[in-house]
Amino acid sequence: MDNSLFDNLNQSQKDAVLCTEGPLIIFAGAGTGKTRVITHRIAHLLSKGVKPWQILAVTFTNKAAGEMKKRVNDLAPGAGANVSVSTFHSFCAYFLRVEASKINLNPDFLIYDFADQKNVVKDCLKELNIDEKKYKPSTVVDRISRAKDDLKFPSDMAADAQANGDFFGTTIAKAYALYQKKLELASALDFGDLIMRVVVALRQYPALLEHYQQKYKYILVDEYQDTNHAQYVLTKLLAQKHQNICVVGDDDQSVYSWRGADITNILDFEKDYPSAKSVKLEQNYRSTPKILETAYKVVKNNQGRIEKKLWTQNADDGGVSVVKSANENEEAARVVDLITINSQNEKYNLSDFAVFYRTNAQSRVFEDAFRRAGMSYAVIGTLRFYDRAEIKDIMAYLKLIHNPNDNVSFKRVINVPRRGIGKTSMENLEKFAGGQGLSIWQTLDRANEAGINKGAINALNAFAEFIKAFMHLKETESVKEIAQKIITHSGYLKELEDENTPESKTKIENIQELISAIEDFEQRSPDNKTLSDYLTQIALISDTDSLDDSNGKVTLMTLHLAKGLEFDNVFICGLEEGLFPIGESAFNPEELEEERRLMYVGMTRARKHLYLCWASERTVYGKTRWNMASRFITEAGFKDEFTQSPEPKPFFNRGFNRAKWNATSKTEPKYQKDDTYDYIPSDDDIIKDEPLYTPVSDNSPYKIGALVRHPVFGNGKIIEKTGAGNDVKLVVLFENGQWKKLLARVANLTLV
Ligand code: ATP
Ligand code: MG
Repeated sequence: MDNSLFDNLNQSQKDAVLCTEGPLIIFAGAGTGKTRVITHRIAHLLSKGVKPWQILAVTFTNKAAGEMKKRVNDLAPGAGANVSVSTFHSFCAYFLRVEASKINLNPDFLIYDFADQKNVVKDCLKELNIDEKKYKPSTVVDRISRAKDDLKFPSDMAADAQANGDFFGTTIAKAYALYQKKLELASALDFGDLIMRVVVALRQYPALLEHYQQKYKYILVDEYQDTNHAQYVLTKLLAQKHQNICVVGDDDQSVYSWRGADITNILDFEKDYPSAKSVKLEQNYRSTPKILETAYKVVKNNQGRIEKKLWTQNADDGGVSVVKSANENEEAARVVDLITINSQNEKYNLSDFAVFYRTNAQSRVFEDAFRRAGMSYAVIGTLRFYDRAEIKDIMAYLKLIHNPNDNVSFKRVINVPRRGIGKTSMENLEKFAGGQGLSIWQTLDRANEAGINKGAINALNAFAEFIKAFMHLKETESVKEIAQKIITHSGYLKELEDENTPESKTKIENIQELISAIEDFEQRSPDNKTLSDYLTQIALISDTDSLDDSNGKVTLMTLHLAKGLEFDNVFICGLEEGLFPIGESAFNPEELEEERRLMYVGMTRARKHLYLCWASERTVYGKTRWNMASRFITEAGFKDEFTQSPEPKPFFNRGFNRAKWNATSKTEPKYQKDDTYDYIPSDDDIIKDEPLYTPVSDNSPYKIGALVRHPVFGNGKIIEKTGAGNDVKLVVLFENGQWKKLLARVANLTLV
């Protein structure tokens, strides 16, 4: 036995690592070393001669899986790298690719993300004459996903709905049935399918089940409290033979019930495995006593929890503070100040700081503040690279080449760039194909039967030839070469070049970035670099993955993504009633308890300093609200001056004071010209459908430096101007510190 492996473990952790045979549950609080036990257990198994491929470790995010893999490899160099450490989804995607031929599945299946799912649902609703206003596509997608989490087929959903007299559910079940047909036609699986298909396959094919049960002698599951029913059944099936299943989790950190996670999985483990051993860990190694105590004060308000109190020997050299601000801009400014002050003494690096918030929408103000302060930051989870329109377009081409029956991708690129195929032609063609039970691709040669005009038919044929040529190329050329050729030969790049606007330039840069990402992929996986491998890898990139690593940068993320991670300094922002706890959750005891667990997860990420931030006024989604401090601040033991609204600061008042503006504008942040990435105007940046249409010529009144008033954003100063005539675009710095990029002719600015 390699004793050094046990040097950094306490007695309970050692017991857990040594107890390799039979079911084991580690049910313990945050920071007690659960993940550490998993990695050491794997290393210990390897040292005992267990083969790496006999071990399966699963967790929830790619980031967590990546970190676990790295730790295992550090503890057991060589063999460690060959252990299957993955997320549930990537494990299942791998399984399905390998076993496709045995289970009647097209091995080139695509993986649909939420946006793809929504598109398919929209088509289904239209076809079934279901009103989108009553049945919101995102709600329908959610219901379908929850059904899959519970291993329910459309017929099960219909039966449940009927039994409960649930008319809404009956209608959704119809959409679900059609949705499944469409996915099948496109050889596509959604995320729920990945897990469900594996479970169904294992249940249906005993030889397959036997093979995998034999193969994985040891199964380990991190964050077990967040498994849903399908994942639970999957691990149970796999572990049935050897029963060497080790699960670790914490009921206080269960925060995914809205995604179908079922806390009873952890609570019932000992019922499922009567011979299960259980290990409790109570010593926290992560946080200062003050942080632990404060987090406990909050979580103990939950009724439905199993009492656990943690202790620590860590030095009492940090603390918990409340930071209250007049509004969200001041909140961000204070966070920046605190990071500046705390990172100056060289004790901390920028990557030792993390800012958490409840909703993605809150990140924008922080981004502005960090940029102005010249402080590096990485936002995890928003505006994902792969969600950008131009990237989705190129990916759709790649998917179509891989699998031309993919209707979603077909429709996405058939007219991008423009090929003169009208909306009606496409609708007719799709209807025709649907009627035949075929994909659009499969009916292209019968387009004349679909009542499509000659011009469009020619264009469709040319497009089909184009895709076919690439289907041949994919046999001989690398993904990178294919992508490059698509971009040029499709005319996509040329269209952007001709547009020649800052936005189109940004798009070109992003596409170049995609090419480098593909190159990166090819270098990282020299043995598995086919188009199919690439598309699988991309489909599985989850929210926690970001293109740029967070080295030397402050990390910004939602609380949900923070699970399992740790930072020296943590800011939890937007701690206001209605924002966190969110919306109406305060009125629903179960939802409130989940919000509180999320708060507990956030607080227990901090090693040294925890800052609880709130602002008495906040504008979210264009609406300004006055707020009360979150009950979580009170529960943490802060009262009176910490929870009363601060006096409003003059600079943040609504009235515009030219003298003050001139004075403050000396400290005006520098706008970096080539930093266009952050200025992609979002829908709410540009005021659309404005009746006032004032063509602006080059001698327009909008000069750099001019002071202007905007009906929504208030007073500001023009700091950048591009384009001419109708295309004049302005970057305006508004008094609240925000930057906006506006199209001058519709922005309704007045000079002040
Ligand atoms: P969470 O519930 O947040 O996922 P966890 O229980 O998985 O937490 P770990 O992340 O494994 O906890 O450990 C928390 C921190 O404590 C890590 O930095 C880990 O390296 C450290 N740690 C755990 N056990 C020990 C130990 N015996 N000696 C020293 N450090 C330890
Ligand atoms: Mg952990």
